[in-house]
Amino acid sequence: MSKKGDMFYAWTPDADLAKKAECGGAVSSLLKFMLEKKIVDAVLAVKRGQDIYDAVPTLVTDPAKINETAGSLHCGTLLMSKLVKKYLNGANDQKIAITVKGCDAMGLYELAKRQQVNLDNIVMIGVNCGGTVSPVMARKMIKEKFGVDPDKVHKEEIDKGQFIIEYEGGHKGIKIDDLEDEGFGRRSNCRRCKMKVPRQADLACGNWGVIGDKAGKATFVEVCSDKGAGILDQAVKAGALKTEAADPKGIEMRVKVENAMLKLGDKWRERDFASLGTGRDRLKKILQDTSRCIKCYQCIENCPICYCVECSTKKPYLVTPGQVPPSFMFHLIRFAHIADSCINCGQCQELCAMDIPNSLHMHAQQVELEKMFGHVPGVDMKLPLLALVEEREERDRLAATGSDQIYNIFK
Ligand code: FAD
Ligand code: SF4
Ligand code: SF4
Ligand code: SF4
Ligand code: SF4
Repeated sequence: MSKKGDMFYAWTPDADLAKKAECGGAVSSLLKFMLEKKIVDAVLAVKRGQDIYDAVPTLVTDPAKINETAGSLHCGTLLMSKLVKKYLNGANDQKIAITVKGCDAMGLYELAKRQQVNLDNIVMIGVNCGGTVSPVMARKMIKEKFGVDPDKVHKEEIDKGQFIIEYEGGHKGIKIDDLEDEGFGRRSNCRRCKMKVPRQADLACGNWGVIGDKAGKATFVEVCSDKGAGILDQAVKAGALKTEAADPKGIEMRVKVENAMLKLGDKWRERDFASLGTGRDRLKKILQDTSRCIKCYQCIENCPICYCVECSTKKPYLVTPGQVPPSFMFHLIRFAHIADSCINCGQCQELCAMDIPNSLHMHAQQVELEKMFGHVPGVDMKLPLLALVEEREERDRLAATGSDQIYNIFK
């Protein structure tokens, strides 16, 4: 019987799946097993669309179709958590297994705190995440730095600190550090991200730490909850997954790589936050950046913290309708409502029609608030500060009505 904290090398006995999977195929095997045994009704995973730059979220109910979702898409910058709320009724009426990167898991926790998703009905199969590259950047980088036609690339991977491509006629890898020093590489929020191993998921799966004859052929699985332990044990017992204890040297190596990534995250935070200046200069910079806003609402639509039935930015007494750019109040509302819980998922920046570094603005504020008040979003079910100063009964009453008004001072 496995338990929280146990670490395994795991691999699929299914030869077809092994070929398609990123490393050991443990993730896909577990997803398939859960569907076959009806532990879940559906799986939310990601599959390749038109090309390697096109990561498509997909809901699978037929176990035979899980093979289509195997493999890691490093240009898959999508966030899974908001999809569960928007399109799957917050997992309230079906049990769903989801593959989650760190930001996906954090988003699910934040939505669960706001009663927008039901974690009891969700199994989170975590994947470690060193970062993602936006599809536009990936194409530019492959063309300019690799000297390869992006449309000829049929596989990409991130391994041993390199971004590696396979294309018609060869393969090439360039160190990510070198790419990033020249302005290419991972999304800026990913560089600052310190959620490399999503331990708030039920299982955390990755390739770091797999050494010896299993290198490249097994998935490193860390058990992170009793739910995760139960599913892993059942899958092994049924012969759907093979496991062996992780090599202690591999475990050590994984810790080292994770720590190195965390240090790198600190380095990027320092660099990025310094670019915003401090105090009044920071405010001026944010005012200047946001002055090109066209109020397309993408930053709100895609933020996992935003859930309100009626968004305050659409209230005419707060933000004058039809005015572009909107008054700074539009952004102030977001800052006031989100900053303490921002998980730095990058969606508000990546999808901004005007390339405003929204995620950087919000993350910088979140880190300041974390220093002041100690609240860390996305890691557990602790409520943010604003929630703590409210009366519990009032929050429950509002949640039951579906209203977003915490303090309705205009009635
Ligand atoms: P498979 O059986 O191949 O299954 C992979 C699963 O990942 C599938 O269910 C698929 O739907 C899902 N998936 C693919 N792309 C995405 C995406 N963009 N977002 C959410 N889900 C997705 N491991 C490390 O140890 N170190 C790393 O630095 C690291 N970086 C990663 C970066 C990204 C963007 C991703 C997606 C994964 C990363 N991993 C990393 C995890 C690793 O690549 C494998 O996913 C993991 O080891 C599981 O391997 P597997 O063979 O069992 O997975
Ligand atoms: Fe991965 Fe973190 Fe980027 Fe999310 S924010 S894609 S977890 S590096
Ligand atoms: Fe993600 Fe932006 Fe929302 Fe922060 S503010 S959680 S980076 S979408
Ligand atoms: Fe997001 Fe605030 Fe709008 Fe709610 S009111 S959707 S928290 S910006
Ligand atoms: Fe403004 Fe960008 Fe938000 Fe659109 S996504 S409303 S342009 S800040």
